[in-house]
Amino acid sequence: MHELSLAENVIRIVESAAQRAKAQRVSRVRLAIGALAHVDADTLQFCCTLAARQTLLAEAQFEIEQTPGRAHCASCQLDVELNQIGFPCPHCGGFELQVIAGEEMQVLEITVA
Ligand SMILES: [Zn+2]
Repeated sequence: MHELSLAENVIRIVESAAQRAKAQRVSRVRLAIGALAHVDADTLQFCCTLAARQTLLAEAQFEIEQTPGRAHCASCQLDVELNQIGFPCPHCGGFELQVIAGEEMQVLEITVA
């Protein structure tokens, strides 16, 4: 499952950051998922909870927000919001769109205790 390997990555990143900060446990993690990343937020949240077992994040709450996708349209030369691949440019209806944001995942904030 795609979400589970992402979740394992998140746990690894956050755990090593927490260890560097000499934290005993992580209470909260805020993540941002691009709208074009093909990730289901609820599934990712569930997978994070699973992957967090027996780590510093075992008690952590995971908050996931979605960031909008953006694409550059070659027809009208505008940068437009795009929240699903395969949709036309909302400005001119063209299909020559190149994704410039929205495929990434970021750890926004870690709260340690
Ligand atoms: Zn356009």
